[in-house]
Amino acid sequence: MRSVAIVSALLLAGCASTTPGVATAPTAPVGPVETPKPPARLQYLYGSPEAAVAVRATNARIADYGAWRIKQRPKDSVVLAPGATMDAPAFEPCGDKPFAAVFDADETLIWNLGPMRYFAEKGTPFDVKVWDQWEKTGAGKALAMPGSVEMVTRLRAAGIAVIANTNRSAANAKGSEDTLRAAGLGEFKHGETLFLMGDDAGGSSKDDRRATIASKYCVILMAGDQLGDFSQQFNARDLPAARRMALATSAAANALWDKGWFLFPNPVYGPWEKLGWDDVFPAASNWTPE
Ligand SMILES: [Mg+2]
Repeated sequence: MRSVAIVSALLLAGCASTTPGVATAPTAPVGPVETPKPPARLQYLYGSPEAAVAVRATNARIADYGAWRIKQRPKDSVVLAPGATMDAPAFEPCGDKPFAAVFDADETLIWNLGPMRYFAEKGTPFDVKVWDQWEKTGAGKALAMPGSVEMVTRLRAAGIAVIANTNRSAANAKGSEDTLRAAGLGEFKHGETLFLMGDDAGGSSKDDRRATIASKYCVILMAGDQLGDFSQQFNARDLPAARRMALATSAAANALWDKGWFLFPNPVYGPWEKLGWDDVFPAASNWTPE
């Protein structure tokens, strides 16, 4: 079996071999030349029916939840009150404020196919200058995620304001408004239903923007692809990986997931990229074949 594997590897590498294990000079490859494929995480998220089905199911749950939840006239928003933590959660009161659903934008409402392909094909890491251009000019190229147009349409029809709170730049507000509209997601207006990085002094933390939104609306649900779309405490500097996991899977957090907080899969980028071998694989699970 081993020599078969070696010969197969040589053939795949474009080498012909007449005697197993003895390579001759490279010759032209036989058959079509295989072009490199996108990285697996991009194949999965942007190309696979497996991801499309999962995303569509989450969007359907969000729409169902929103229509059901407003009938209960909830007492509190799902936005944590200032200073409240997952250890002792407390929420912004609803009063008689109008209902809203708050969404991240990137990889939550839209898939950013243009720059993701560009970065992957060039083999370059995320580049803020390229991304800035994308925010300005991506309208018509960013795609609504599967089921998201139907989802926002159902929420709006139920009388729920659909608001985006994204770390796209306030300087590029028009580009992002155009991008969301061109994707079929309707109207988002900066300062009213679109909140952007630079709107306040909070930088990339969305907590202050969430507080601003919750002061005007009863936020019945939030959705995102990263934990910072729900609370900045998950992004605290130097938060150990095990502590981050414990916070996100605590009883208080589990009471919110799929019941007010909705998470979309994003294997392409996220804070989890910092995880090391020992974070991902607990020592007790280590196994090697004989
Ligand atoms: Mg996102």
